[in-house]
Amino acid sequence: MATATPSCPDIATIVRQVIAELRSAAPPAGSGPPTGTSAPLAPTVAGPVASTSFAGRHGIFTSVDEAVSAATEAFHQLERAGIAGRKRAIEHIRRISIDDSVELGTMEFHETRIGRLEHKIEKLKVLGERSPGVEFITSEVFSGDHGLAVIEHAPFGVIGAITPVTHSLPTITGNAVSMIAGGNTVVVNPHPSGKKVAAEGVRRFNAAIHRDIGIDNLVCLVAEPTLETAGALFNHRGVKLICVTGGPAVARAALQSSKRAIVAGPGNPPVVVDQTADLDRAARSIIQGAAYDNNLLCIAEKQVFVVAEVFEKMLAAMERAGALRLTAGQVDTLTGKAIVMAGEGAHRHQVPCKDLLGQDAAVLARAAGAAPRDGVELVFGETAADNPFVPVEQMMPFLPFVRCKDVDEAIHRAADSEHGFRHTAIIHSHDVRAMTKMGRLLDTTLFVKNGPSVAGLGLGGEGYISFSIATPTGEGVTTPLTFTRQRRCTLVDDLRILGSADSIG
Ligand code: NAD
Repeated sequence: MATATPSCPDIATIVRQVIAELRSAAPPAGSGPPTGTSAPLAPTVAGPVASTSFAGRHGIFTSVDEAVSAATEAFHQLERAGIAGRKRAIEHIRRISIDDSVELGTMEFHETRIGRLEHKIEKLKVLGERSPGVEFITSEVFSGDHGLAVIEHAPFGVIGAITPVTHSLPTITGNAVSMIAGGNTVVVNPHPSGKKVAAEGVRRFNAAIHRDIGIDNLVCLVAEPTLETAGALFNHRGVKLICVTGGPAVARAALQSSKRAIVAGPGNPPVVVDQTADLDRAARSIIQGAAYDNNLLCIAEKQVFVVAEVFEKMLAAMERAGALRLTAGQVDTLTGKAIVMAGEGAHRHQVPCKDLLGQDAAVLARAAGAAPRDGVELVFGETAADNPFVPVEQMMPFLPFVRCKDVDEAIHRAADSEHGFRHTAIIHSHDVRAMTKMGRLLDTTLFVKNGPSVAGLGLGGEGYISFSIATPTGEGVTTPLTFTRQRRCTLVDDLRILGSADSIG
């Protein structure tokens, strides 16, 4: 049906109404001109937007209530600043992440005391350069006989984020870029052991954005984070969406929350190497991924299952590529020190020992009783399938290698070790059947073939990067679209230019 209904107002009336509505919705004096496609960028977002009671705090708060109020004010200001305002804010976050990466990466390294300095710096740079931004916010259009439907991606409002110690400021950086690109603001409850660098980064981001476009507190932070402040953020009425990046406990808490949650949960990525693999390439890839930041990445290779036919050759390839092989006795010594028990009663379970988590390969080698070579990045050794290093997400640069009868056994053992997290898996093989079987059985969010795990985040592979990979809730590698809600605007019949001119009358 292409004719207008008799009750439809004429187009001139509609235009008058729209202009009247735009006028009444214009921001108050002093808040800059309203945004619109014809307005030039600078006047749209430059100058003070509106002074707020929280301006000048640069995102640092001791109370969750205040942080959410400030983020709510900032959200309304960001709405008025439009897409141009989002872009400008993100440019500052990117610039600071890149320009201050050495200083902030060094701060993070000294505060958290885990990982590798060069990678703390590199992570900030890469996120600054390659996190997806407003270009991801597109609209979809359905056009047909009955008119037009436009689907737009609208912000949620204030997002509550929980971030890990393994990448304190990098996670906040990536989250901030994506969330602001989606038009949101965020309150972060950082890991207590990475709170200082988190606060310094957030302060720098907000100060620069405030100076430029007059909006403060787009990214807010609870300066003294605890489990209680995390709980308060989860349950706060002003928080419209939760985004959690962390291990099993916080992932469970978020999944049980009454609010919609995007959960970037734990991983324990297995690697399978079969007899068709290029073993030298596999060894170089495994070292690159597993040694990165001392194995702190949730996507990093954590245990390797190799078919018996090439087992010894693969271990030799690892040594050729620079990894240090431990003897069986040294592996036992390290296992006893590196994996410990935690929790009480039914909740008692194996965890990585804090003293060795994220430490250098040389430290692990010495703990095992081996003499490390200069520059060694990864230690490894043969273990049984039931060695604790296999099921535990160790987050340290030691990899257990398990000998398997054939590729089917390797794939099944890999699936067991992944615990159904559906996070990341890696295979080195040129056998399409083996790749397909592993992909189907493990059903992981990231599945990397013949490369290092980091290729799954676009580093040496295709695609984009984020340090929040939503696994149990299914959003995958998060983007600005992850933090938006769909809104549909339907226009019935008129305004669509296709169709017969006769039907207009
Ligand atoms: P963690 O679970 O100890 O802490 C993560 C955050 O959750 C911290 O801010 C912590 O204070 C908070 N937290 C912990 N228990 C909580 C609870 N019950 N309620 C509310 N908040 C709670 O993890 P971590 O050691 O900081 O980080 C490593 C873990 O995070 C690994 O398991 C890793 O796989 C995972 N991780 C996942 C991703 C991903 O994208 N999927 C990214 C990075 C890290």
